[in-house]
This record gives sequence, C-alpha cells and structure tokens, in this order.
Amino acid sequence: MRPAFRHPLSAYALSIATVSLAGGLQEKLEAAANIGFDGVEIFENDLLTFDGTPEDVRRICADLGLTIDIFQPFRDFEAMPEPYRARNMDRAERKFDVMQALGTDLVLVCSSVHPACIDDPARAAADLREMAERAAKRGLRVGFEALAWGRHTNRWRQAWDIVTRGNHPNLGLIVDSFHTLSLDDDPTGIAAVPGEKIFYVQLADAPKLSMDVLSWSRHFRNFPGQGQLDVTSFMKAVRGSGYAGPVSLEIFNDDFRSTQARLTARDGLRSLVFVQDSIGALKLPAAPVFGGVQFLEFAVDEMAHDALAAFIATLGFRKIGTHRSKNVTLFRHGQINLVLNAEQDSAASEHFLLHGPAVCAVALLVDDPARALARAKALLSPDWFERVGAGERRIPAVRAPDGTLIYLIENSDTGRGIFEDDFVLTEAADAGLLSTTDHIAQALPTGRMDSYVLFYRAIFGFEPQATFELPDPYGLIRSRAMVSADGSVRLPLNISESRETATGRFVSAFAGAGVHHMAFDTTDIFAAVAQMRHQGAKFLPIPPNYYDDLQARHGLDDDFVAKLQALDLLYDCDESGEFIQAFSETFDDRFFFEIVPRNGYVAFGAPNATMRMAVQAQRRDAAKLGARLVL
Ligand code: MG
Repeated sequence: MRPAFRHPLSAYALSIATVSLAGGLQEKLEAAANIGFDGVEIFENDLLTFDGTPEDVRRICADLGLTIDIFQPFRDFEAMPEPYRARNMDRAERKFDVMQALGTDLVLVCSSVHPACIDDPARAAADLREMAERAAKRGLRVGFEALAWGRHTNRWRQAWDIVTRGNHPNLGLIVDSFHTLSLDDDPTGIAAVPGEKIFYVQLADAPKLSMDVLSWSRHFRNFPGQGQLDVTSFMKAVRGSGYAGPVSLEIFNDDFRSTQARLTARDGLRSLVFVQDSIGALKLPAAPVFGGVQFLEFAVDEMAHDALAAFIATLGFRKIGTHRSKNVTLFRHGQINLVLNAEQDSAASEHFLLHGPAVCAVALLVDDPARALARAKALLSPDWFERVGAGERRIPAVRAPDGTLIYLIENSDTGRGIFEDDFVLTEAADAGLLSTTDHIAQALPTGRMDSYVLFYRAIFGFEPQATFELPDPYGLIRSRAMVSADGSVRLPLNISESRETATGRFVSAFAGAGVHHMAFDTTDIFAAVAQMRHQGAKFLPIPPNYYDDLQARHGLDDDFVAKLQALDLLYDCDESGEFIQAFSETFDDRFFFEIVPRNGYVAFGAPNATMRMAVQAQRRDAAKLGARLVL
C-alpha cells in the first residue's frame, strides 16, 4: 500500500531543497509545508544563516509536518591527499553531529571539484566507504552524486561505479536530472541500478543554453516542465529502478530567488505532479480538448464602458445583449464575443479597482469542464465560482497566475446557449468580416515567465513555442507563445526586464500582468480594415521605410505592397504561410486589437513586433510631449 503522502495522487514523497525558495529559512519551510510538500532538503547555507539551532529547525519542521530528507551539500570529500583526507573525516563527523541534531539520516556528498582531488575511483570508493562506516555507527547514510562539473567524476555512471566499489550498505547513489541531462548523458541505464541503492533523487529542468555548465546550473535551473531538458525520460529511468524514496527539487534560479516563496512552492509541487503524470506514475484527468475562445470579458466602470463600447464599435462590434441581472453588456462581431462588465461587487469590479479597464476573464470552450477542473485542482489550481443570479448558469473557472479568470465552457454549447441563459438578446449580429479570436497576448511581470509556462502547460496541456527576443525602443521583450494542441487557443506571453518597454509599462502602470492585446481572425483583411477605417477605427500608421524594406526582403510586387501601405498593414511570411497584420490604436494607453488573417501561418509576426512597438513608443512620446505643451 502507498504511504500517506500529502498530495493525494502522488506516487512518491515530494520534497524541495530550501535553496529553491526565496526568503529566510522559516519562510521557506512554511511555504513548502503550506502548499503540501512532504519533506525538505536542508541546504547548508540556509542553516548557517538561520538564527537558531539545528534543533530549532527540526522542531519547526516537525510542527509543520515536514520531514528533513537530506542535508546538503558536503563538498570536496573523496580522493583527496593527506592532510585533506584526515581533515575531511573530521569534517564529516561534525556534519554528522548537525544531521543528528536536525533529525535527518542522509547527507549528500557531491563529487569533488578540488584541484588536489586524485583521479582514482578506487581511492574515492575507499574514502566514501570509510565515511559510510562512520555514518553507520550513528545510523546515518551517505549519498554520492556526480556534479556535472566534478573534477574527475561528472557522470552518474562513474558515481555508481564508485558506490559499487565502496560496497557499503550505508553508501548509495544520488542522481540529479540536471547533472545528467546537461551533459547530454544517457539516463536510461539508471533503470538497471537496484532501486534501494539509489538513496535520493533530485529533479531540475533548464532552458537549453550554450554556456559553461556551472553558471548554467547556478542561475538557470527551473522546475520540470519549465525548461527543455528531457526530465521525463530521466524520471522514467528512476521509476524503472524501483526507487521508492522522495523525489525532490533542487533549483538554483535567479528569478526564483526574487519571487515570493509561496508562489515558487506552488509551481514546484505542480511540476512534480505533472512529471509523474508524464511517466504514468500517477494519472491526472486528461487535459481539455479546446474549441477556441468563447468570449473575452472586460472590467469597466460606466465611463470606461461607454468609451470601450465606442472603441470596439469602430471595429464592427455591435451590442447584441444586456445581462438579465447585472450591469453587463454583450458585443459581437462574427463569432467573437466581448463582454463589458460594470457590475459592482463582482470579480470584475475588483479587477477594475486594481487595474482600470482591462480584460478580467477569458472564456475557453472545452470538451468537459468538470474534467478540466478536476485536473486543475490536482495541479493545485483551485476552481473559482462567481456568484450567479436566479436562472443564470454557474460557469466553472480557474484563475490564471495573474488573477485573470479563465472560464471553462462546454464546447457542445453553440455559444448561443450560454448567452441566452444570462442575457436578454436584442438583435442578432451580422456575419461580419471577423471570424474568431486568433490569439490573446499577455504582459507578464518580470521573472514570472516560467511560472506561466508551467501553468498553461500542465493544467491545459498547451505546448510552449520557441522563445523570441523582440527589441522595443526602450528594452528587450522576451516572447513565448503557449498554444493548445489543436491550435484553437494561442496565448503569446511577453515579458520585459525594462519598465519602459510596452510590456514593462503595461505591467508597472497597471498593477500587474494582464492581456495586452487581442487578435481577431478575418478572411479578408483588406475589406475588414477598410470597413473599420470607414467606421472611424484608427490603426497604427506605419512609416514608408517599412514598405521599401518589405519589398526588398520578400520580393513582393508593387501593387501588393501599395495595397498594404494604403491600409498600414504589416506583412510576414515563412514556410508555413503568409501573415498580414493591422494594429488598432491603443485603448486608454492600455491594450489594443490586432486584425490578422491566419492562412496556415503558425507564428505571430515577430519580425513586425519591433515596428509595431517603435510606432507605439513614438506615439506615447508624442502624447507626453503634447501633454507638456498644453501645461
Ligand atoms: Mg543536486
């Protein structure tokens, strides 16, 4: 029978190294316990800087219901000449004292990086055997891990060879996915190691970067599912060995160091549940099958309502309904529904108070909302219900990391059903020139990209796309889209270190992340944009130089380029197809709309983002100057 782990589905005890979390030791331990970790690794530095005794740490952990699974790291121990060797044995005894005070029986010894370390596996084995013998006298155990940058031992197989030669029941192997996968080493052989000789398992992912492995490890590790390493295959091999101990996260990451511990802890636990699902160690409810975006909801007050209604009217949206019990109106163009919510005492009004006019909810069509919610809950995203009036539907929702509500609506609804329940529909919309919502781009707070990627990947099964770096006139923007398997929901995520870029300003000026622009699909962009202009829509004016360059780059014919230029349309093409874009002026200096015909093209027009951001920045600067002149 499976022991009682705190996550109801987990096949393993789940642990996290204190180094992975920001803050003081007490704060780290509380964050780990509150989210539901079973245990922790005590990172030596966290203990050294803790204002209290190891016994205090033991007591805090016991009160929080956390086990201390391991004390780490013990460095530069094996295969050292005298007098280092004798000193190391004394050092080990002192650390054993600390471990006993902490109440943990396992120490992590990582392979030596010391210049004096001797290249002799037999010596390494003999030293570790002696350490294990000393540990055994106190009922303690020693685990040996190959550091990817170890001086003579850097592969798990070498560490396993040394452990085998050491041949002591209190000496075992520790494996860490980063150290194995960062060297492109093959983890599959781990399945052949007897599970009981693996004393501990650490997981970490990382983006693929070309840099020295030590710096890569110290700054860029992240949680499984956030990076590009094949942590799944690694964990499969671990499972194949029959290993039954804790699975732990040891993450050194600059962003995590500056993020609240409770947020990082949630992502960590989520990643461990997700990776177990990916190897079949536990079974999550299947990810939803999506059917596109059902509606976008904006938080407004009366004034913003009227301004936004007038703005979207120029894009051809017509008011077609009024909510039965709330101060909410429904606008439609094609199959795109925009809901303007000015209801007091609602999630929308809270959102409005914090952010001003903004998208507060996105409704996605899914095959089975109940299953989607069960999956979200198992992945630590609790469901959320808005209060409803009599006869209205209760729409299940989860909260995205930025607080935006994501409604989950059953795809069998034609879209009419849900609106007919809640709204008095006044007229049918015309077919119009727009069809569906193509993508919804969000601006994220600095340091939070990995968190959002994991959220959408784990909970909704979205696939992360390649990362782009887009130059804004005031800094770089990093962009990575999350896309549903069928391509019907696309969410580009944008992040910027600079507060002055379009993305940075959005986040700093409007108190947090949120939807920065929405793109609508059209079958005829020339007709759509011409009509919208006729209705008073204003689009970003594109400088003539852009069109000269475009013609040169893509070899387009004169007439076509003239047509693009006449309507300020931007163009891109790649092997997947052609892409034409029009960008609306920004509403209230906050968000804007994009019109795109998606003819098989799979990306988001990254080459044009620089142009778009430059024009937007010029217009912001001009507006500021204008304001100053008026003063
Ligand atoms: Mg490690």
